[in-house]
Amino acid sequence: MFKKVLVSNRGEIALRIIRALKEMNIKSVIVYSEADRDSIAVRLADDRVCVGPAPAPASYLNISQIISAAVLKKCDALHPGYGFLAENHHFAEICKSYNITFIGPTPTTIALAGKKAEVIELLKSKGVPVVPGSHAVCKDVKSAKKIAASIRYPVIIKASAGGGGKGMRIVEKEDELAKAFEIASSEAQGAFGNSDIYIEKYIENPRHIEIQIAADGGDVVYFPERDCSIQRHHQKIIEEAPSPKITPKLRKKLGETAIRIAKILNYTTVGTVEFLVSKNNFYFMEINARIQVEHPITELISDVDMAKIQITLAAGEKLPLRQGDIAILNNAIECRINSEDEDFIPSSGVVRKLFIPGGPGVRVDTAISQGDEISPFYDSLIAKVITWGASRSEAIVKMKRALDEFIIEGVDTNIPLHRRILENENFLKGCYSTSFLEEMNGKNQKNNK
Ligand code: ADP
Repeated sequence: MFKKVLVSNRGEIALRIIRALKEMNIKSVIVYSEADRDSIAVRLADDRVCVGPAPAPASYLNISQIISAAVLKKCDALHPGYGFLAENHHFAEICKSYNITFIGPTPTTIALAGKKAEVIELLKSKGVPVVPGSHAVCKDVKSAKKIAASIRYPVIIKASAGGGGKGMRIVEKEDELAKAFEIASSEAQGAFGNSDIYIEKYIENPRHIEIQIAADGGDVVYFPERDCSIQRHHQKIIEEAPSPKITPKLRKKLGETAIRIAKILNYTTVGTVEFLVSKNNFYFMEINARIQVEHPITELISDVDMAKIQITLAAGEKLPLRQGDIAILNNAIECRINSEDEDFIPSSGVVRKLFIPGGPGVRVDTAISQGDEISPFYDSLIAKVITWGASRSEAIVKMKRALDEFIIEGVDTNIPLHRRILENENFLKGCYSTSFLEEMNGKNQKNNK
């Protein structure tokens, strides 16, 4: 097992990893930017190295500084968390060349997973159901029009290097295509440094269902699904497990498909296979080669520690559990608390007063403390409130209570939006799709309008 791990991230996920390392008796070293000097994650790690000023390119994305820190502190492994360098295959390769184990899949698998269009084509050729469309990179408007006409409108233009819902445009009819094509390519260029896009059929009102997998290079297991259909701007805000509308039969089918996919891609450690589900049809969307924000709901329904499993697998050990050991023991929900206003515009400032909810069935993953400055430099996710209970309604009751208890003054948050969702009749019935929020608000938010 590793002796010392460099935690190459910040905020709640850095703290989550430090906690796992502590329980595994592994030393942690955290890298941090000048803006995070006084953060709780930096304080709780066993050791720390400042890698640069606040802007992420100068610190959390500064590969040479991060590798130097790992070498200087004699770390034998590095945990990238999510975001930043977590799915950067060059970075994973560099770690390897310095004999530092990158806690994630191999650089080759990360590279493939990052080329969404290519993975879809590969899996389609192996008989995995994918969304109808052309997953070859689409070079110009003329060929885009041809593809769209063949799969019929509405279509969705997506960035091949995409993530976080960026570089995605829905097109209802042909005369909107040229403009959408330009916007999506330039958005993709700006966000990912790669303007490649592809086109697929826009599935109306699907559910976003994802399967957590864990693999040791020989065996692969899957966990019961997470339903991540409650989204804003194609980004998840509430996740629950299991999904209120997935039957045991479909669950098994999705799980077995996820295992097949993991085997085709030679996937190791933990990851997530994302699907769109419409009625009884499901379509592979992408594989996320990292631990995800929403991993705690799986931990709570199946009583596992995903971070520890990930570290164990990266160290070359065998899976600590078999498929038959994995069950649905609870229902769990996660609300992502973002520092943002009603229009989803990030809000920064000093946290003047803070009370973190607790009590039975409530877990809060956060690294904010009273007096902290919520910096405009980083992601607006500041806390994850996760509740669980023997039934879905119990988990919801606990979530409402937890959100009522949450006090955070000094920045705007989306807690009022979560409260409204938790009162919504369709949400309470479990009848929702990825269009839930626009339906609730009675407006068209499809293209971030
Ligand atoms: P990202 O990697 O940017 O998060 P995804 O491919 O995971 O992008 O898609 C994010 C969300 O966008 C999905 O959960 C879904 O709501 C929507 N979406 C993506 N592709 C389609 C599609 N073909 N039809 C309908 N909705 C889609």
